[in-house]
Amino acid sequence: MATVGVIGGGQLGRMLALAGIPLGLTFRFLDPAPDAPAGEVGELLVGPYDDPELLDRLADGASAVTFEFENVPVEAARRVGVLPGPVALEASQDRLVEKRLFRRLGIPTARFDDEVEGFPALLKTRRLGYDGKGQRLVETRPSPSDHVLEELVSFERELSLLAVRSRDAEMRFYPLVESVHRAGILHLSRTPVAAAPQALAQAYATRLLEELDYVGLLALELFETGGELLANEFAPRVHNTGHWTIEGAVTSQFENHLRAILGLPLGSTAPRSREAVMVNVIGHEPPRQAILRIPGAYLHLYGKGPRPGRKLGHVTLLDPTAERLHEIEQLVS
Ligand code: AMP
Repeated sequence: MATVGVIGGGQLGRMLALAGIPLGLTFRFLDPAPDAPAGEVGELLVGPYDDPELLDRLADGASAVTFEFENVPVEAARRVGVLPGPVALEASQDRLVEKRLFRRLGIPTARFDDEVEGFPALLKTRRLGYDGKGQRLVETRPSPSDHVLEELVSFERELSLLAVRSRDAEMRFYPLVESVHRAGILHLSRTPVAAAPQALAQAYATRLLEELDYVGLLALELFETGGELLANEFAPRVHNTGHWTIEGAVTSQFENHLRAILGLPLGSTAPRSREAVMVNVIGHEPPRQAILRIPGAYLHLYGKGPRPGRKLGHVTLLDPTAERLHEIEQLVS
């Protein structure tokens, strides 16, 4: 029986295990929280991410070690030899390094730092920003700091491309997803996208995957504006905009990530339905009864306690009617 070690024990770790258990895999997680969501689906080591002894226990006898959030200390990742590799992790942890990497690979981004001409502009922390945290609008150019100044993009759509690359460099891509954010947090994502710039997005993701010699699943977040795609950021892990793949694709993002890091054949990324929409459950638990009454609705709860702004679960709707989608949005918000 193969064991997978995962740094982090949040909902992404939990869904990795839910995808991997049917393949005969067992899971071990490292998380500081004794009640981490993944504790219900594998062994949970409780302690700091950079504890050498716990890291060694995590990796002991494991066929692969991965991570489920990108703020893992790079030294910890190096110690246990994670996939995707520490290089990808490091690039994604610093917005400035990340933007320079995009530019070097010929992947367009919003104007930043000295290039910014118009105000208000967005000031983002270089590190540890997520879900819109760590960014604010500014009216003037701040003095040099550990932040990145970024021009506001009046995008038509926010798109996300999920890509997976195997140990022997095979690449597969899911159909582009459109994302809608509320208060900086992902509210909904849907696929397919009308007139999707699939080929261009794949070309950009390919450059990134090859440059990083990447193994596993990667999410590339893009702004579409005036027929152009600007890269906002990438996540070196399974991603919220890929949750629809659990029911909506032949092989889920979670299963394909595991297949990639374990050297197993990648699975098809083709959709199973005409359309899929995923709505996040944020802040409070939704009424199970009412959701499960809706045909084509799949409920996922992560076993987390309610708190404003916290992602507690999601609902995927396959081939939704406008009424069913409206109903779900009412029930979860
Ligand atoms: P981020 O923390 O970079 O993922 O940003 C969170 C969300 O803020 C994005 O998904 C966008 O909706 C919005 N956002 C980030 N950067 C920009 C930008 N330069 N212009 C307009 N909106 C942005």
